[in-house]
Amino acid sequence: MQTIVALYISYQNSLLILQKKINISYLKTNIEYLKGVGPARAKLLNTELGISTFFDLLNHFPFRYVDKTKVYTINQVSVNEQNIQILGELGPLNIQGVGRRKRMHSYLKDATGKVELIWFQGVSFLQKTLVPGNSYLLYGKPSLFKGKINFSHPQLTLATAAQLNKNSGFEPVYNTTEKLKLRGLDSRGIYQLILNLLPKLNINVLKESLPEYLLKDQKLIGRISAYQKIHQPKTTEAINNSRNRLKFDELFFIQLRLLLLKSGRKVAIKGFIFEKLGDYFNSFFKNVLPFDLTGAQKRVLKEIRKDTLIGIQMNRLLQGDVGSGKTIVAVMTMLMAIDNGYQACLMAPTEILAQQHYKGIQNDLKKIGLNVAILTGSIKGKARKQILQYLQDGLIHILIGTHALIEDPVVYKNLGLVVIDEQHRFGVAQRAKLWRKNTSPPHILVMTATPIPRTLALTVYGDLDVSVIDELPPGRKPVITSHRNDRKRLAVFGFIQSEITKGRQVYIVYPLINESETLELKDLMDGYESVQRAFPKQQISIVHGQMKPADKAFEMERFVKHETQIMVATTVIEVGVNIPNASIMIIENAERFGLSQLHQLRGRVGRGADQSYCILMTGNKISNDGLKRLKTMVDTNDGFKIAEVDLEIRGPGNLEGTQQSGLPELKLVNLIRDTQLLQAVRNIVEEILEDDPRLQKQENLTLKQFYERQKNKTWLTWSNIS
Ligand code: ADP
Ligand code: MG
Repeated sequence: MQTIVALYISYQNSLLILQKKINISYLKTNIEYLKGVGPARAKLLNTELGISTFFDLLNHFPFRYVDKTKVYTINQVSVNEQNIQILGELGPLNIQGVGRRKRMHSYLKDATGKVELIWFQGVSFLQKTLVPGNSYLLYGKPSLFKGKINFSHPQLTLATAAQLNKNSGFEPVYNTTEKLKLRGLDSRGIYQLILNLLPKLNINVLKESLPEYLLKDQKLIGRISAYQKIHQPKTTEAINNSRNRLKFDELFFIQLRLLLLKSGRKVAIKGFIFEKLGDYFNSFFKNVLPFDLTGAQKRVLKEIRKDTLIGIQMNRLLQGDVGSGKTIVAVMTMLMAIDNGYQACLMAPTEILAQQHYKGIQNDLKKIGLNVAILTGSIKGKARKQILQYLQDGLIHILIGTHALIEDPVVYKNLGLVVIDEQHRFGVAQRAKLWRKNTSPPHILVMTATPIPRTLALTVYGDLDVSVIDELPPGRKPVITSHRNDRKRLAVFGFIQSEITKGRQVYIVYPLINESETLELKDLMDGYESVQRAFPKQQISIVHGQMKPADKAFEMERFVKHETQIMVATTVIEVGVNIPNASIMIIENAERFGLSQLHQLRGRVGRGADQSYCILMTGNKISNDGLKRLKTMVDTNDGFKIAEVDLEIRGPGNLEGTQQSGLPELKLVNLIRDTQLLQAVRNIVEEILEDDPRLQKQENLTLKQFYERQKNKTWLTWSNIS
């Protein structure tokens, strides 16, 4: 008997387990098997909207709602309303005009008044289907025309008693596509599918992700309820509550992941200790540094100093607008490493920039007896071998270069610090390689002039510490920017000539978006020739991506030495190039550049004491976004403002500096509008982790479980690198 009971219990248990398994995977079921879908629609849902499981469909949220909760009487209608409903009797249909000018007038009246209706399209069809004298439920947006309330193209639905009784709350509106519509999956069709799914939601198929105390403290509704209400709300409050709750989740688990990574790294990875500020640092500061550091530079150096004293690996992002003086901060950080017996390296995204850094830094540091070397792809054979040997022997203190620095044969004796300039140009994988260049990973300082709005920074670089140089060196005059039509070219060239006569130098940049396109190269060469014709007495340099590195370097050098007055170039000079005497930046076809690129290019001038100018040349054909970009450039020099506009125009996924970050897709959160929520969520996560760094407390069990389940999702962060 006992055995039978035991067997029975174990049978029951296994049933339970089986059932649980089924339930938990319920939402992972292929969308094909949802009632009303089938193979053909499933395929379309997948290709058109990326929906392949029940859960994907559940996460296809409405982007707006039609308010069907209220039916207005006509005397309640004012023109300030959005779309509204009115119930009334349709007046006679009045047709005017013929063919494409055909219009139809009518009115709707109830006991309280009358509103005008007008249609410009589909008149013949409407004429056949609408019946004057019947009661209709109108849906549309009121406007004012000749002092009267008017609806153009309202939706009219015959008002049967049955329909009116079914007060349907808010009707969700979903994104869909033409192909899906052809298959009956317009917004309403999708809604029907979701309605098949909603009753199946319960705690077995959709777990709560947040602990009780958080729901309570933050006044959040439950997860199941949120999914139900976002698709089928009865009130505005329900819409707000459900969206709020789901947005909270989106942000919460990103921040949790980033902050756990950050703290985990801090526990797991030891960092070198740069105990002293020694002779090199001090004598550089006293004898070589040609100017006073700005307050912001000093503050950042202090932050870095603190990082390198505590025995934890530094992972710091240094943000500073173009020309804010990041290089010197990098140099002084490298001196901290060297003073403590370590080597340092500086990686730049282009050969031109690496060369420039090398010249400047080597020139400064040889004065205090340090060896600086450069390694790029074009240094080969014996010379390369020699450098690698010296590096391994520790004879080279600082190695500067392009990504050649991280190739496998490059072995350091004791690498303590890696600086990455213009980091957004590198991929995560490239950065990862640097970590393996010493037995313990070196401290890492990444620098960027692509100012990323704070919200985005918290999401993309959330696992890095961030320093900001928010102050330009003294005496800089803001660059004056203007937008000129090609027709004004003669005047622009006249202006260039007068500045050259004053001893200034000029950049003229052409948009070779894709350096390998011969067609675009032709644009550049044509441009070069026309510049030659316009300035027969001037020496002109030309630099583009298809030139050999040595030729590029030679041309750059002539410009640096002021042997040439004009530099015709592509965006290879976009990042980092520092030639203070060049004070005019002409950007050809400026409408073809993105905002951050324009800002970077403009950053090449305004580096000396002279007034600098940036002139954006365009033809007449400019898109609205293009115009907005140009106007933004003319209006402001502030990199952060520019970044905000860029974020607005392009959306977070396309911002330079984020493409390679693997930013997770945000479905509900808008990084521009939801700044406050993001900040709040960040603070909440910080508080939770401060109290319970590894989520070991009972109360955080839910979080831990949910986090573990989400972990496998495939987005990278900056430090997936270790
Ligand atoms: P970025 O931040 O764009 O990399 P750089 O480091 O190239 O800027 O600096 C731009 C210019 O400003 C350089 O010529 C540099 O020598 C100069 N500079 C940097 N810091 C100061 C300072 N505190 N005072 C005066 N000039 C400075
Ligand atoms: Mg720089």
